[in-house]
Amino acid sequence: MLRIYNTLTHSEQDFTPIKEGEVGLYTCGPTVYGRAHVGNLRMYVFEDVLKRALTMLGYKVKHVMNITDVGHLVGDGDAGEDKVESAATRLGRTAWDIAKDYEVMFVEDTAKMNILPPDVMPRATAHIKEQIEMVELLEKQGFTYTTSDGVYFDVAKFEKYGELSGQSLADKLAGARVEENEEKRHPADFALWKFSPAGHKRHMEWESPWGIGFPGWHIECSAMARAYLGQPFDIHCGGVDHIAVHHENEIAQSEAAYHEPLANYWMHGEFLLMDNQKMSKSLGNLYVLPEIVERGFEPLALRLFFLSANYRQKQNFTWEAVEAAQSSLKRLRNEMKALSKDGKADEGFMSKFKEALEQDLNTSKALALLHEVLGSGLSVGEKGATVSAMDEVFGLGLADWIGRVESVPTEVTVLAEARWQAKLARDFAKSDELRAALTEAGWVMKDGKDGYELERM
Ligand code: AMP
Ligand code: ZN
Repeated sequence: MLRIYNTLTHSEQDFTPIKEGEVGLYTCGPTVYGRAHVGNLRMYVFEDVLKRALTMLGYKVKHVMNITDVGHLVGDGDAGEDKVESAATRLGRTAWDIAKDYEVMFVEDTAKMNILPPDVMPRATAHIKEQIEMVELLEKQGFTYTTSDGVYFDVAKFEKYGELSGQSLADKLAGARVEENEEKRHPADFALWKFSPAGHKRHMEWESPWGIGFPGWHIECSAMARAYLGQPFDIHCGGVDHIAVHHENEIAQSEAAYHEPLANYWMHGEFLLMDNQKMSKSLGNLYVLPEIVERGFEPLALRLFFLSANYRQKQNFTWEAVEAAQSSLKRLRNEMKALSKDGKADEGFMSKFKEALEQDLNTSKALALLHEVLGSGLSVGEKGATVSAMDEVFGLGLADWIGRVESVPTEVTVLAEARWQAKLARDFAKSDELRAALTEAGWVMKDGKDGYELERM
């Protein structure tokens, strides 16, 4: 039985899907105003592993992840500039252009991390109609009020507000920052629709029953999740930073509008830290994927590093840890070379592996089992099949290394290069000597017109 920690009930629970054998999964996607940092990538890897694990456990998963291309304001609140519009102004381009570019970059980076694409990746800007309809429904039922800068959700009208974070409205009031918008009735009230500032034409704005403007950040997830997964759906994921505000607000507006829960299970991934602080754009303590690659590490090594910690644990980013993951990945690949594909996955190991996944996605335990398989007395065929099956969840591409020809060791390359130079210099004695040394090392040099090839003897 799959057990998952449900933030909504603050406890670990048996997972029961709405429709037998199927899972509707919604994960909050990127705000496309900058490149995803490796902290963001940790979250997307967790969600990818969850999806792969659900598939291994026999569920047919429908995964929806949104692209936030409008409405997410600097500071994550209701004041301040739109993140995408402000990045566009800084770069002297349009919000539409940069949103498109960063979306492409996101798709490229996640593909390099071997993250499977979602089944649907809807953009907020392509679902304005659905978002307006939802605000209208909330308005009709008395959950909204209008101020000079937008239409707001009145949290005091929604009794269960605070259930997800376990914070009452009074707690939220006590913890609130100095209110930047005095027209709000409660600091936790949030914008459903914001008006374009007077005298300023935004790149992205739409007509609405309340005036020209754009949707608030939270409403897009509620509207798109409902459009593609129905309501309620099974699992909603995101980072722990989304619990107190973004997800609390998604729940409030969806339940208030449609009188049904939004999702049955809420799973939240913990942060990637740098020197014990959250890696974040606002602190600037971040790395992006190309920087990892520039330092000589593969995206898959980063993925392996993420898998070594369970999703509800904080994880500290260090170069030493990424280097250790890179070495571990190399060792795993080397071990795969000696295996074959013609065997059957071992049932005993596979059932232990599934049990580890069923324990709230215990990836570190599952990874230990993979190493156990390699050190076991199984045949090379059985090992190959078992590790390949497990790697369907890890996504490290290990199956591709089964039976691969050994790569050329550095000392062999050095010998071969020296022999080629000797041959070009017509130093035949030296050339023969070096060829002999190569033979001794077990390698043959095949000379061509413009170069050579090395083959194992
Ligand atoms: P954002 O684009 O800021 O909305 O973030 C995208 C996703 O990355 C969200 O699910 C965040 O919770 C998550 N996230 C942001 N910073 C970190 C971090 N340092 N570690 C892990 N996840 C993060
Ligand atoms: Zn969301």
